[in-house]
Amino acid sequence: MSQIPIRSKLPDVGTTIFTVMSGLANQYNAINLGQGFPDYEMSEELMNKVSEVMKKGWNQYVPMQGYMPLRESIAEKIGFLYQTKIFPDSQITITPGGTYAIYTALTTILQPGDEVIVFEPGYDSYIPNIEINGAIPVLINLKFPGYEIDWDEVRKKISPKTKAIILNSPHNPTGSVISEKDIKELRSVVAGTSIFIISDEVYEHLIFDGLEHMSILRYPDLLERSFVCFSFGKTYNCTGWKLGYCISSPESMIEFRKVHQFNCFCCHTPSQVALAEFLKNKEAYLSLSHIMQEKRDYFIELMKQTKFDLLTSHGSYFIGAKYDRISNEGDKDFAIRITKELGVAAIPVSAFYRNGTDNRVLRFCFCKKKETLEAAAERLAGIR
Ligand code: PMP
Ligand code: GLN
Repeated sequence: MSQIPIRSKLPDVGTTIFTVMSGLANQYNAINLGQGFPDYEMSEELMNKVSEVMKKGWNQYVPMQGYMPLRESIAEKIGFLYQTKIFPDSQITITPGGTYAIYTALTTILQPGDEVIVFEPGYDSYIPNIEINGAIPVLINLKFPGYEIDWDEVRKKISPKTKAIILNSPHNPTGSVISEKDIKELRSVVAGTSIFIISDEVYEHLIFDGLEHMSILRYPDLLERSFVCFSFGKTYNCTGWKLGYCISSPESMIEFRKVHQFNCFCCHTPSQVALAEFLKNKEAYLSLSHIMQEKRDYFIELMKQTKFDLLTSHGSYFIGAKYDRISNEGDKDFAIRITKELGVAAIPVSAFYRNGTDNRVLRFCFCKKKETLEAAAERLAGIR
């Protein structure tokens, strides 16, 4: 046993709620609507392509920026989706997942004492990523229950120390999405400042109700000051692949790559080689919003037999549910109780707030087979 004490860099951090709730779900053999991952198979064609390229010998390092044909396919896709020209050699880096891309972007720009605006509830890696760099998260609550951004509050919280704003649309954990109006507000807030934007767009293709994804990539003036982060895991139903990418201006990408090359160097080669081809299949990503919207709607319908009141979700894998009509327990206690007693795991949304907010909302993940959703709703209907 080591006798050498470590002065923690993250003294306020425990184990992530995803690991805690999935562990509990396994322990109690519960249906896991907590952690966000599909319970159905990814594309067989893509699996076959990976195995094919492995057999052809694509098993050694690629350049640290990522496999060039994959970066070319990404640039082509961005031109098609967002009408923006991105240079694959200088603006795209392949990363081991979206989380890593965000961490690397923050590590690239932050100096001790810098402030970063973070909206809550928010994906749980942001704040530790900021703090590990000696910087300070400046927290702003999204407006409950629609979880919109309060831009007046943003203006109030901007200071000479503000180094970045983290945006996430479609949003985890709430499923809210930003609009053209938010982009206008953002533009006016950052105009004339040196504030960076970290835009977490891992759910870019999971957007519903005919809404369009307001990617930062659509706006060259904003892209100049942004790091835009994506994940193949969400797009191709393979969250365990942990592969994604970051896009920025060429100048920012030089610094990003300095950090990346000594942390990861390069990512898994066979997946990159397979994806370089697979990305050209537009239907594979364009069909996603329809498939996922059907799942959302099916879950909403099923939940009518329960006493949960669902909030609005326009995107992502997730939807919030209030349980006022069932209990006044705090959301963590309630989530643990229903996992143990009913056999359904969900994520308590207070886990996505550092500031203690608990609106008594659970986050349910609906990217599951119909029969999984049916079984979960039936169990949830039985709650007293
Ligand atoms: N951002 C958000 C909001 C997410 O939900 C996820 C999914 N875990 C990620 C980033 C990171 O994705 P990845 O698994 O590719 O790291
Ligand atoms: N993005 C997924 C979620 O929010 C999983 C994240 C994780 O396990 N780190 O549930």
